[in-house]
Amino acid sequence: MAYRTELEARIAKKTTKASVDFDMIQEGDRIMVGLSGGKDSWALLQILDVLRQRAPIRFSLVAVNVDSGYKAFKHDLIARTCEERGWEYRIEHTEIGELIEDILDVNDTPCSLCARLRRGVLYRVAKEVGATKIALGHHADDFIETLLLNIFFAGALKAMPAKLVSDDQQHVVIRPLVYVGEDEARQYCKESTLPIIGCCCPACGDLALQRQRMKKLLMDLEVEHPGVKSSVLKALGNVAPRHLLDTRLNPPAELRARASELVSSVAS
Ligand code: SF4
Repeated sequence: MAYRTELEARIAKKTTKASVDFDMIQEGDRIMVGLSGGKDSWALLQILDVLRQRAPIRFSLVAVNVDSGYKAFKHDLIARTCEERGWEYRIEHTEIGELIEDILDVNDTPCSLCARLRRGVLYRVAKEVGATKIALGHHADDFIETLLLNIFFAGALKAMPAKLVSDDQQHVVIRPLVYVGEDEARQYCKESTLPIIGCCCPACGDLALQRQRMKKLLMDLEVEHPGVKSSVLKALGNVAPRHLLDTRLNPPAELRARASELVSSVAS
């Protein structure tokens, strides 16, 4: 089966590279795709379906949408689209939207609570549908922005894992679009005529101000210095632990031993 467009070929190549680099997909996997109805999750589902038909290994897909319970949310359009494309799917209706209002405490933000609640639902449904992996639609821009957000506002040098085994070892989460840019995902969703469905959450938009700021910063830098974003992404795979200040990576005893080795080699 040939790729339909140049963009599809490029995204397939990047997704395959991610899968190989992080050992994401194995023979017999049943991959549950977290399908929000946004451009990224549609792009992920579409490209995984294309790869499924071309790959030398067999794996299956099931799309799962967690409906937060907002009245205007078009879960019927998600269902119809999946049916038309022959994609196995499940819509999980929840009352997460209402729950957030009830249990949000002062130290939490709606989005972090929402993410935890949705993750809980995804983990439960993954067991019910027999999934061996959970694929999420985070793309390269998400990784880059998360890295900058953590550096600027959380005092941590971290992005997000491309592959993660849950704390209880029961679930494996993968992010196959790690090398795919947000623009590419948007364009791919458009050329694949997939309907972008808003989450209908009242918090949507205004709570992501810091992330929007990072996007703007990166956009401006990219105009001044084309290639900045790919350099940041490359940096995530090119870490020099000894040039950082985390003593867990550079135990002081080891540092002292290295320093004395250095001194004696200079003296001799
Ligand atoms: S904007 Fe709304 S739906 Fe999106 S993560 Fe935040 S609370 Fe959840």
